[in-house]
Amino acid sequence: PGEITPEITASKLLDTPIQVPSRLLMGPGPANAHPRVLAAQTLPLLGHMHPPFFTIMNEIQDGLKYLFQTSSKYVLLISGTGHAGMEAAIANMLEPGETIVVGNNGIWGARVTDLAARYGGNVVSLDTEAGGTLSLKDIQAALEQHKPTVLFLCQGESSTGAHQSLAGVAEACQVHGTVLVVDTVCSLGAVPFYGDAWGVDCMYSGSQKVISAPPGAAPFMLSERGLKKLLNRKTKVASYNFDLNLIGDYWGWFDKRSYHATGMISMWYGMREALAIISAEDRLVSVNTIKVPEGVNWAAVVKNAMDKYNVEIAGGLGPTAGKVWRVGIMGYNAKLENVELVIAAFKDGLKQQEFLQ
Ligand code: PMP
Repeated sequence: PGEITPEITASKLLDTPIQVPSRLLMGPGPANAHPRVLAAQTLPLLGHMHPPFFTIMNEIQDGLKYLFQTSSKYVLLISGTGHAGMEAAIANMLEPGETIVVGNNGIWGARVTDLAARYGGNVVSLDTEAGGTLSLKDIQAALEQHKPTVLFLCQGESSTGAHQSLAGVAEACQVHGTVLVVDTVCSLGAVPFYGDAWGVDCMYSGSQKVISAPPGAAPFMLSERGLKKLLNRKTKVASYNFDLNLIGDYWGWFDKRSYHATGMISMWYGMREALAIISAEDRLVSVNTIKVPEGVNWAAVVKNAMDKYNVEIAGGLGPTAGKVWRVGIMGYNAKLENVELVIAAFKDGLKQQEFLQ
């Protein structure tokens, strides 16, 4: 009695295994996730309040500080995609009735305009033509005229390909007590970002582009000034999910940990791995150093490349003498066929020493 026979039956579509074709994702994102990131996501689940998981969260924060070039402890991952980062930035940095100047040269400025209005902001749109960027002069004039609480800029405008410079902007903002909010969803990891040196107060990014993880974790930071803005709010943050007082408390910002919402366990394993990969990748692109394996005669490889392929590669120098080879990929020579020739010369040289089959 009281039981109902279900009228909606299970879908036949789910009887067959999931179909996922293999695709090379060469658009503006998502990019393919790194296989190591995908592997990390298959590790066993931990509880979201377990100490070993807190250790992983700490390691993620260390990786984020490096990636953002900040010593601010107010870094974390917002659960969700880039839009979640964007909404967290606006919901926390702007109060109803406050003015935000939005750098608007493509779709992302338009999105922030929409969001800021939803959170009761007084939005001033600072427009440039599509594909253009704002000059420091344009920005200074807008700050002078509107004296906004918040300035928003998008570093990498993925709808047009424009790269907005951030140099000098924070100094101009600080004259008026303006908080600088920056979108780096499409740029972080690909072009320089210096959170502290550029005085960025609030920054959000995305996981599925340069960071090469699946979508679902938005890297986020507040500077000390950004945190002060949060703590000095007169009104409660209108969104529970994006309230940084609560999310930050889960990430240890206030030297304890309280449950806000379940951490995205597997997603954050993947981010831990992605940050480890990025941290190991920060090398000079024009001169590539390659470790000489144990037992290999590096000089014979160099000689063989020159004698047989007419290609110059170099051994180490100073502290790296005898330990590495150095391969330049510079200007006119930075071509795929040249890289392939160098690899062929290396393979041949290593085969001669029976290091390779
Ligand atoms: N900002 C920029 C610059 C973007 O390129 C994107 C994604 N294309 C977003 C924000 C929004 O990110 P998401 O789609 O991950 O929510």
